[in-house]
Amino acid sequence: MLKDQDRIFTNLYGMNDRTLKGAQARGHWDGTAGILANGRDWIIQQVKDSGLRGRGGAGFPTGLKWSFMPKESDGRPAYLVVNADESEPATCKDREIMRHDPHTLIEGCLIAGFAMGAVAAYIYIRGEYIREKEALQAAIDEAYEAGLIGKNASKSGYDFDIYLHHGAGAYICGEETALIESLEGKKGMPRMKPPFPAGAGLYGCPTTVNNVESIAVVPTILRRGPEWFSSFGRPNNAGTKLMALTGHVNTPCVFEEQMSLSVREIIETHGGGIRGGWDNLKAIIPGGASCPVLPKEKLEDAIFDFDWMRQNQSSFGTGCMIVMDNSVDVVKAVWRLAKFFKHESCGQCTPCREGTGWMMRVMDRLVTGEAEPEEIDMLLDVTKQVEGHTICALGDAAAWPIQGLIRHFRDEIEDRIKRQKTGRSATILTAAE
Ligand code: SF4
Repeated sequence: MLKDQDRIFTNLYGMNDRTLKGAQARGHWDGTAGILANGRDWIIQQVKDSGLRGRGGAGFPTGLKWSFMPKESDGRPAYLVVNADESEPATCKDREIMRHDPHTLIEGCLIAGFAMGAVAAYIYIRGEYIREKEALQAAIDEAYEAGLIGKNASKSGYDFDIYLHHGAGAYICGEETALIESLEGKKGMPRMKPPFPAGAGLYGCPTTVNNVESIAVVPTILRRGPEWFSSFGRPNNAGTKLMALTGHVNTPCVFEEQMSLSVREIIETHGGGIRGGWDNLKAIIPGGASCPVLPKEKLEDAIFDFDWMRQNQSSFGTGCMIVMDNSVDVVKAVWRLAKFFKHESCGQCTPCREGTGWMMRVMDRLVTGEAEPEEIDMLLDVTKQVEGHTICALGDAAAWPIQGLIRHFRDEIEDRIKRQKTGRSATILTAAE
């Protein structure tokens, strides 16, 4: 378990002073100019050495992503964009950073922006995060007043601005290129890639989009050293991470923990165990709605990190786990996610626009059992035709939960269809609820 002295976020629950004074007392903004004086290449190499992987869900190595930015400017400015859209169902970790420990993010923006040669950072915050926006803006204002950002930021000789942009609440704006479009004042619709944002991103300029937590952990990694950070977790899954537990645990919470602990240890230590005990566990969705569901049989020895989840046909995602006990109708739970993705599709590409509607309508019938058994394979086939055939990852995100359901809970779907046909069941649920 992570010791208190190894926590990066020391005010996660808002028990201490979140202002600049409080943040400095907890060690933030300590020697920032000295860190910048080591130069861009040093910072990027340290982040690479730490093994930090993006904390927004995809898990792409952060230092490597930064290294894609041009070393020399061709005359265009470069930008850092921070994705604070956090709209994935069940994910609410970045929110705690922004409302309780905002200076970790602001200091991170300065250091990361410097490492990429950026002139400014744009933080794109989710529309619903009103109080978080206020806390973050107050912290940005404090940092400007103290000379930590702006002209000659932290007396480093480097000029760096931070702008906070409030979104309007669309899930798709969490996709990096849709976020950039929205930031430019257009409809939040994902762009075709290439060109990738590092070549032509915000306003056609080199841009890197990073998650809030990926940026906020950087100052502490540089102060304590990459070896310290990589000493947590298995190789390729390094570090500490903000995680969350929601659903049928006794104490739902957000917490910082080291990577690669067992799922059971995490649930029992931080979540106070499953409601009704471990044997009452039915399934989990590991890290956000798009991660395929995993049944209890898979979870006895499961390790909560990127590699284990991928090897077991799911995904670590944001590390914010939905826990479901035996009272859950898992078919209906996945139907609800299908409805969500259909609603959030931007409609730009046909497999996603039509496919998410198709998938949801077949799921409607599977929930009530008013379907034919062969529709299960038809549905699986539709998910395969959507997966990998769309402009952005929303198509995959819509397909994967359904694939996970059919992989692990096919019996439950078939049984429901049989019960409906024979009239044996007294409790058929309606999808219309
Ligand atoms: Fe839009 Fe869906 Fe295509 Fe993404 S996959 S661009 S959300 S239609």
